Amino acid sequence: MHVVIIGAGYCGSNVAKLLEQDDCIQVTLIDSREVQVHKIAGVRAAIRDDWFECVPIPRTHLLKKEKSRVIQSGIIQEVTDSKVFFCDGTCLEFDFLVAATGILNNSPAEPPLRLDREEIIAHYRKVANVIRKADRICVIGGGVVGVEFCGEIKSAYDTKSVTLVHSGQDLLDGTQMQLSSSFLPRVYSGLKHLGVDVILNSRVKIPKCHERGYLEGYRVLETEDGKEIETDLVLLCIGGTPNSQIFPKDWLDTRGHVAVNEFLQSTVAPNVFAVGDINNVAEDKLWVRAKSQVDVVVRNVKRATRKAPLDTVYNTERNPNIMIIPLGPGFGVANLPIPTGIFGTSISVVGKANHLFVPETFKSARATPPSIAGMGILSSFVDAVYTLFRRGGRKHTILESPLDGVLQ
Ligand SMILES: Cc1cc2nc3c(=O)[nH]c(=O)nc-3n(C[C@H](O)[C@H](O)[C@H](O)COP(=O)(O)OP(=O)(O)OC[C@H]3O[C@@H](n4cnc5c(N)ncnc54)[C@H](O)[C@@H]3O)c2cc1C
Repeated sequence: MHVVIIGAGYCGSNVAKLLEQDDCIQVTLIDSREVQVHKIAGVRAAIRDDWFECVPIPRTHLLKKEKSRVIQSGIIQEVTDSKVFFCDGTCLEFDFLVAATGILNNSPAEPPLRLDREEIIAHYRKVANVIRKADRICVIGGGVVGVEFCGEIKSAYDTKSVTLVHSGQDLLDGTQMQLSSSFLPRVYSGLKHLGVDVILNSRVKIPKCHERGYLEGYRVLETEDGKEIETDLVLLCIGGTPNSQIFPKDWLDTRGHVAVNEFLQSTVAPNVFAVGDINNVAEDKLWVRAKSQVDVVVRNVKRATRKAPLDTVYNTERNPNIMIIPLGPGFGVANLPIPTGIFGTSISVVGKANHLFVPETFKSARATPPSIAGMGILSSFVDAVYTLFRRGGRKHTILESPLDGVLQ
């Protein structure tokens, strides 16, 4: 059986590694980029020169079996329920498809989709130079990426003025996680400690950005309620766009995500599955959560290739509420799923801020991580916590009477 996986980011790469171990399955993994982008390190790489190399991960040794194939820089024009059509006129047939194309974040923390390794590094170098030159920076959008940008900038450049403008009542108000009641106050006090000005309940007219997610040069931004913010650089951190343009419209929900059932199987094409940010599972679009979708998709695809009814249901509530917000390499706030819930700098630094999972993610792709002083053994900490706290022992519901008919 030929299984094509489109998107070799965190989810697609891991699905491919697990599926190729099945002797009955031939895997083809396709990505439009030449390397995997380690997005979790993207904000810091947009600021610190010694972090540029922590983002692009080579896929040279990702898959091991001779029957497997990785197509890098593969530009797809269109996908049907049996074929992938490339822009160069070639086409690939499949029995099963896994959509893992993610969301393109619109901030400068994520490089465009078709770049090679050197172009990705050049992207970060350019953004880091622009940030270095600006004295007054305005970050628009108070989600995780916007908050991290403020913390990372102030930790690298203490004297710059940084203003965070958010349209909602509270920072991070888009999260669906149950966070400890003292988590958010700690985030505010962390930003205050660093000297970030936070403006809530305020919308600025978003300027048109010619570069990816930023706008250079002096300007005065006006908020709808009449405030004026003088700035030399605007950083847009207002979310992203699902990479679903290549898929048939009837696979998608109204927001452009691939619509899936509880088996992470397309609601309209039974031989199609979707994993990670691209599917329409209603939960925070984070790798720490999507990680456990990988097992569900792998198990269900394996059963589908054998014409067995699907039996593994994805349970969002079994994912622990872990959120660690680094505010620079040596500072941060952590929410962990234990009674006291909330932790300050030491756990945040050990668990994430110091290493941003660089060693672990490179190793998972069978690549050698770049060496940055002080980064290393700490990086598997959160993974260990995650595994320890996953509720119920078993990750997902394995149905005792699998539902016939899901494969019609
Ligand atoms: C700046 C930033 C920081 C983040 N920090 C954290 C964090 O600290 N913790 C956390 O848990 N999550 C974090 N996230 C979210 C996390 O990165 C996503 O949840 C995760 O990337 C989802 O994995 P994925 O495999 O679904 O998608 P991705 O990792 O985005 O992978 C999608 C892949 O598909 C490829 N692709 C897209 N379109 C096409 C196409 N048409 N043809 C071929 N290939 C295509 C892309 O090149 C990419 O390789 C962060 C996100 C950003 C942007």
